[in-house]
Amino acid sequence: MTTRGLTERLDAEGVICAEGYLFELERRGYVQAGPFVPEVVLEHPEAVGGLHREFAHAGSDVVLAFTYYGHREKMRLVGKEHLLEPLNREALKLAREVADDYGCLVAGNVCNTNHWGPDDAETQREVRQMYEEQIGWAADAGVDYVVSETNDYYGEAATALEVVKAHGLPAVVTLSAHRDPTLWDGVPVIEAAQRLEQAGAEVVGLNCMRGPATLFGLLGELRQAVSCHVAALPVPYRTDEAHPTFQSLHDAACDCIPGARPFPTALDPFTCNRYEMGAFARAAWDLGVRYLGVCCGGAPHHVRAMAEAWGRRPQASRYSPDMARHAFFGTSGSSSAEVAARNRTRAGEL
Ligand SMILES: [Zn+2]
Repeated sequence: MTTRGLTERLDAEGVICAEGYLFELERRGYVQAGPFVPEVVLEHPEAVGGLHREFAHAGSDVVLAFTYYGHREKMRLVGKEHLLEPLNREALKLAREVADDYGCLVAGNVCNTNHWGPDDAETQREVRQMYEEQIGWAADAGVDYVVSETNDYYGEAATALEVVKAHGLPAVVTLSAHRDPTLWDGVPVIEAAQRLEQAGAEVVGLNCMRGPATLFGLLGELRQAVSCHVAALPVPYRTDEAHPTFQSLHDAACDCIPGARPFPTALDPFTCNRYEMGAFARAAWDLGVRYLGVCCGGAPHHVRAMAEAWGRRPQASRYSPDMARHAFFGTSGSSSAEVAARNRTRAGEL
């Protein structure tokens, strides 16, 4: 299949980039909550490749290499610094294999390091080194572009962008909007996006932390504030004004959650359904957003609903719901009139 570039796709039909690998693979038993290090890339590459395929099947235009938290600091935390390079190279290879099968773009991925100190030149130098090694491996692998995501600090995002640009690659830089949407080095998130656009980012946007309901207002502000393409990758959770981020959600219906905080392992009852994510995708398109995805918590059915909301028919649409043929709730789900009549009676009893 032919692969058109990022900008070409953005200007034409938009780009959908499935994310959420960390949470989905944690749920499936391949990533440990807490450290959240993607050791699965080396230990169970088939699980990573399989999820890449599910997302591409569901309508993702991009296979994002699973190198989120695959940086030196995190590898050191789990005592596997020596596996840093093999892990990154393997993640890029897995992404490439699936992208080639589905005609997708391949993106490299760097993220928040949790090491950056806004006034600490030493940690800033170390973070730059971490980005240089990860982005260097991504460039070696021939990625189409690099995503720098979940940035809590303007300075850290700007550093990642500098390194991506030094490799001559397009950059998608997305920022975290916490309860207070000012980044942790004091730069308001909208201003940070403007500065990143001026520094050469092809796409700027927001990812993680907020669900569709509490991300949308900021997205409108952002779309007005910049002229480059805008990215929106909410978490698929029902955040609200009092609980604007997924970390702030509280589950009054359950008293058995360790630590009483649903984040990050007990968020299930807050999950947005596919229709909510589809509605968000449509509204984002109307706002002018052309780079769309789902972050932590996202699953293939969300991606398919968002792709369909943009008028697409991904391979998985072959299995999209057809309730007209449901035995009890449909109009043509039975092979005989007598059976259909009986089932309609049963439907009323369900
Ligand atoms: Zn996330």
